[in-house]
Amino acid sequence: MSSQSLLQIAIDGPAASGKTTVARALARRLRVLYLDTGAMYRALAYLALRTGTDVDNGAALARLVAAQPIEVRLDQAAPLGFRITAGGRELDEAALQSREVTAIVSAVSAHAEVRSAMVRAQRRIAGGAPVVMAGRDIGSVVLPGAPVKIYLTASPEARIARRRAQLEESGINVNARKLAAEIEERDRLDETRTVSPLAPAPDAHVIDSSDIDAAGVVDEICRLASTVNLS
Ligand code: C5P
Repeated sequence: MSSQSLLQIAIDGPAASGKTTVARALARRLRVLYLDTGAMYRALAYLALRTGTDVDNGAALARLVAAQPIEVRLDQAAPLGFRITAGGRELDEAALQSREVTAIVSAVSAHAEVRSAMVRAQRRIAGGAPVVMAGRDIGSVVLPGAPVKIYLTASPEARIARRRAQLEESGINVNARKLAAEIEERDRLDETRTVSPLAPAPDAHVIDSSDIDAAGVVDEICRLASTVNLS
């Protein structure tokens, strides 16, 4: 049991482990704000593509995000569960999940300059309110004091099947073999980067969702949240 004043729930995990679905449903159930931080890194990757910015140049990416801020408005009723604009343009699921964006997002997010700007913005957005935040470094870096930290994982097969269904829903068709290679490569890059590599926070509860549906995972997190002593 931990004693915190705010119910902040951090959900981290590898690509396609179900974080987004679970985090959004959980936030709805608890009636708190929800943010998928992956969308912010994807928005910057989108801007980099649009402006021809070199994804290996952290300083140039930091300048880009300073010049064309990525703005997030928390709004459960929006199609994504929040609204996100980059360079003044609202981005939808199809733009954020496009193959071009996915191919470069791990390179974009590996830079220290990019991560510090994003972490600052994410803390500001959370604004000291109860929130469910999903990502890779939420429990370890963004909200280290969060009283509930989840590291959500699943078998490669389950993750591929889920991501495929999610992409198809947004009208993006993908081949399973290519998808498996893309997920594996993104995990490798996210786990081996120097700054904030993907890893469970020491105090995270690890949930393997291979054989549990999203509602079951939400139940389990609610159970954990109910044991937290909010001061
Ligand atoms: O969660 P999603 O797959 O949309 O994240 C896209 C990418 O953004 C990840 O592969 C990772 O490189 C980066 N990311 C991150 N830190 C976060 C969220 C996402 O580095 N908190």
